[in-house]
Amino acid sequence: MMLAYMDRAAAATEPEDAGEPAAAVAAGCAAATDFGGMVSAMPAAVVRPATADDVASAIRAAARTAGLTVAARGNGHSVAGQAMAEGGLVLDMRALALSRRPQMQLVVVSAAGGARYYADVPGGALWEEVLHWGVKNHGMAPASWTDYLRLTVGGTLSNGGVSGQSFRYGPQVSNVAELEVVTGDGECRVCSPSSHPDLFFAVLGGLGQFGVITRARIPLHKAPQAVQWTRVVYGSFEEYAADAEWLVTRPAEAAFDYVEGFAFVNGDDPVNGWPSVPIPGGARFDPALLPAGAGPVLYCLEVALYQYSDDRPDDEDEEDDKGAAAAAVRRMMAPLKYVRGLEFAAEVGYVDFLSRVNRVEEEARRNGSWDAPHPWLNLFVSARDIADFDRTVIKGMLADGIDGPMLIYPMLKSKWDPNTSVALPEEGEIFYLVALLRFCRGGGPAVDELVAQNGAILRACRANGYDHKAYFPSYRGESEWARHFGDVRWRRFLERKALYDPLAILAPGQKIFSRAP
Ligand code: FAD
Repeated sequence: MMLAYMDRAAAATEPEDAGEPAAAVAAGCAAATDFGGMVSAMPAAVVRPATADDVASAIRAAARTAGLTVAARGNGHSVAGQAMAEGGLVLDMRALALSRRPQMQLVVVSAAGGARYYADVPGGALWEEVLHWGVKNHGMAPASWTDYLRLTVGGTLSNGGVSGQSFRYGPQVSNVAELEVVTGDGECRVCSPSSHPDLFFAVLGGLGQFGVITRARIPLHKAPQAVQWTRVVYGSFEEYAADAEWLVTRPAEAAFDYVEGFAFVNGDDPVNGWPSVPIPGGARFDPALLPAGAGPVLYCLEVALYQYSDDRPDDEDEEDDKGAAAAAVRRMMAPLKYVRGLEFAAEVGYVDFLSRVNRVEEEARRNGSWDAPHPWLNLFVSARDIADFDRTVIKGMLADGIDGPMLIYPMLKSKWDPNTSVALPEEGEIFYLVALLRFCRGGGPAVDELVAQNGAILRACRANGYDHKAYFPSYRGESEWARHFGDVRWRRFLERKALYDPLAILAPGQKIFSRAP
């Protein structure tokens, strides 16, 4: 009965060019796996919704059964099965984005201080699509990004969405004006900070537990024309962290637009070492410039300053603008304590800058590590404990590198709305993202060993009392989740779940709740 319904729903919403059973089977297989490549769960069916009503119909149909669950799948870039539904329905949110015409819409709202601009985008749109549409058609773009843009709007808003812009413009969950959401009772609601605010904030960072985001309204701003992109190297974590924290607390008129950074191995390994630092168009890494006492792990601070065109077509004026922007960067970098001479700078277009991880993807696809398992670990660690974390984990356990980036950079808690569902460290204003983005290369350690090492890192965090939270948490059972959220937030999470998805139909791959009969 249920599958017959699903067949009809899928047929009604199938993109025209999808050749049938093979495409359906392929979609089913894709929905059974994710970027992590470590777990798999076969759904009963994949639904390709064309509208929010299709999403509502699928959820209502599941609610009428004794045990069927529903998972929205963005682009499947989770690493622990979060977008899967074993024996349930997977909603292919890309279909919702691809079938909507026009896919994105500009919304102009007149306000006291002048017009405000927004993009109305489907939940399954990729951030890359939002970027290209905004810049090409309107010369505008959102302020907050992820490093990699082939992630969906609904997927990152269900988690947080962070990158080097977060310290200044807030994470993506702080850059949304309105959401259209289909809740677990099959109702479609439009919510915002002023209309159904509880649902709005529940869904942001809500791990897909309260509703399926079918549309998001994202504020747009004038897009920069170019970006002054710079990387510098530190031998000491203390100096790196002091400078990074100073940069993220500068007043807006004296701040960069983007501050990130990563740890890397003091050696010539092409993935883990010095070659991972230079940027395209930048200088060569000369290890002779490293201080004599540099340890086994070094740090790279990455900053970017946006450059706006003032619409002067004149080449000379453009040259003046470039010179002024480069001089501003030099002035802002002057007080920093990085190793002089280990500076890598380039001017790149705004879209190129935001698309920089595409090059990494191309290379990883070539060498096979894109399709290999990705035992990633992402954490937020309070600034209070980050030096100790660096000593114990980065230098202590990961000094040989992880065959991928080890991001470690600060952001500000005041840029996150405490009403969202995201759990952050408790102490202080500054916390760090630590992202251990492991790419398995042939001949490296077995995946099980890497997973075990992630477990050991989490245990070390707990044993040492580090104020930390998992980002993209992966726990099993309510007690682990209760510890993750802490008493007050967990109570609120439970209340919101009872209100918006009382049968626990949604996002079973997060393994928080069991479907009620
Ligand atoms: P999926 O993995 O498909 O889904 C994630 C969760 O959200 C699932 O529980 C799913 O059910 C739910 N969900 C998906 N769509 C919806 C929807 N429309 N409504 C409600 N719930 C939904 N993250 C960052 O913050 N910053 C980064 O710089 C960053 N870089 C990354 C780089 C790479 C190469 C990869 C693989 C991931 C990166 N991520 C980053 C992580 C990324 O944000 C997460 O994987 C996130 O889950 C988004 O991926 P997705 O759109 O494929 O969502």
